[in-house]
Amino acid sequence: NADAAMYVAKSSGRNSFQFFTADMNARVREFLRVENDLRSALKNGEFRLHYQPQFDAASGEILAMEALIRWQHPQRGLLLAGQFIRVAEESGLIEEIGDWVLNEACRQAREWQRRGLKALPVSVNLSGFQLYRRDIVAKVGRALQSSGLEPRWLELEVTESVLMQDVARVAGILQEIRGMGVKLALDDFGTGYSSLAYLQRFPLSRLKVDQTFVRDISVDDNDAAICKAIIALARTLGLQVVAEGVETPQQLAFLREHRCDLVQGNLLGAAMAPQQLELLLGAQGPEESRGVSRGFRGV
Ligand code: C2E
Ligand code: MG
Ligand code: MG
Ligand code: MG
Repeated sequence: NADAAMYVAKSSGRNSFQFFTADMNARVREFLRVENDLRSALKNGEFRLHYQPQFDAASGEILAMEALIRWQHPQRGLLLAGQFIRVAEESGLIEEIGDWVLNEACRQAREWQRRGLKALPVSVNLSGFQLYRRDIVAKVGRALQSSGLEPRWLELEVTESVLMQDVARVAGILQEIRGMGVKLALDDFGTGYSSLAYLQRFPLSRLKVDQTFVRDISVDDNDAAICKAIIALARTLGLQVVAEGVETPQQLAFLREHRCDLVQGNLLGAAMAPQQLELLLGAQGPEESRGVSRGFRGV
C-alpha cells in the first residue's frame, strides 16, 4: 500500500512537473511575442492615451483626469494597460514608453488649455522602473518645457510598493519633483505595506484608495472600515483622497457620506479617447458644471 501511494505521488509529481514546464514555455513565448510587438508599437506609434475623469464627490464637477495608456494593436485591437504594462516593465521598454506617455500627456493637457477647454490637472502613472532612474527629474522637466505646461497641472502617480523599496532615495527624488511644482499621488493605497511613519516623508498631495476596497464597500464591513480609515488618514496628513473603481450608486453614496474628496470609476466615466473627453467637457458649461455625469443624477 505504501508502495502504491509512493508510486502515485511520484507519477503525479512527474506529470505536474511536465505540465508546469509546458505552461512555462507557453508563458515565455507569450512574453517574447508581446515584447517584440511592443518594440514595433513604439516605432509605429501604436500607443494612445485615454483619459479618465475624476469628479468632486460632493458636486459631481470634473476636477481632474488620469492618463491611462492604451495600445492600438494591429491584430488584437485596443489593449488596456493591464494587458501589457507588466511586459513593458520587465523588458525595460517601460522607460521609452513612459517617456512617450509623459510627453504626450503634457502636450495634450497644454493643447486643451490653449483651446480654452476647462483646465484640468492631468495625472500620469509612473512605474518603479521609471522612478528609480536618476534622470526622471530631468525628463519631467523636459516634458513640461517642451509642452509649455505649467508644473502645477501635472501630477505623477506612484504606488506604495515603489516608495518602500528605497525610502531615502525615493524621498529625495520626489522632493526634487515636488520642488519643481509637480504634484504627487500615492496610487493603489492600502494594497502595499507602507509604514505610516514613512508616509510623511514623501511630499504627497493625494492618496488614492485602491479599487479592491471600494468594490465591496457596501457589502463588506472590513472594506468599509478600511475606506473610512484611509479617508481619515488622508485628512490627518492633509492630503486629498480619491476613490478609484467606483462602479455602483451604493459605493458612490458611501464615499460621499464619508466625505471622500474625489471619485473615479466606470459608474461616472471610464477612461476615454481625447475626443470623447472634449465632448464631455464641452457639454459641461462653466455654469452647468454640476452633476453632468449619469452617476450623479438623482444621487
Ligand atoms: P491604476 O493607475 O490604478 O489605474 C486604474 C485602472 O482601473 C485602469 O486600468 C482603469 O482603466 C481601471 N478602472 C477605472 N475605473 C474602473 C472601474 O470602475 N472598475 C474597474 N474594474 N476598473 C476601473 P488600466 O488602464 O488597464 O491600467 C492598469 C494599471 O496599469 C494602472 O492602474 C497603472 O498602474 C498602470 N498604467 C496605466 N497607464 C500607465 C502608464 O501610462 N504608465 C505606467 N507606467 N503605468 C500605467
Ligand atoms: Mg493610477
Ligand atoms: Mg490605482
Ligand atoms: Mg492598479
